Amino acid sequence: MSKCECYVSAVSEERKKMFLEISDDGTIPIRCPVPAGTMTHPTLKQPVQFFEMAIERLTLDQRTRLIKQLARRFNLPETEIDRELDKQSCPVRWDSEVIVHWCNLHLRCVL
Ligand SMILES: [Zn+2]
Repeated sequence: MSKCECYVSAVSEERKKMFLEISDDGTIPIRCPVPAGTMTHPTLKQPVQFFEMAIERLTLDQRTRLIKQLARRFNLPETEIDRELDKQSCPVRWDSEVIVHWCNLHLRCVL
């Protein structure tokens, strides 16, 4: 069985910048092309849907860059983020600022 190759890319300048900090081509691998869930938080105006980042498909360099970005944005120690990534991955917000690219494996499941 082939593996999932779904990913998201950004359309807005802000997200593009954020994604390019992690990967040189600005793409972020996700585990499934449909949202994994909805999250709410006091800092969010409304609930948002998110994808689960495919942490296991990041290169070591991309993972390091992701950890640095999250540490800076959330003011947390890099070691803590590194541990959490393996436990719970990293949500990628699904909104009009991203484009979802479906892989052939997931495309086959569409009716
Ligand atoms: Zn896929």
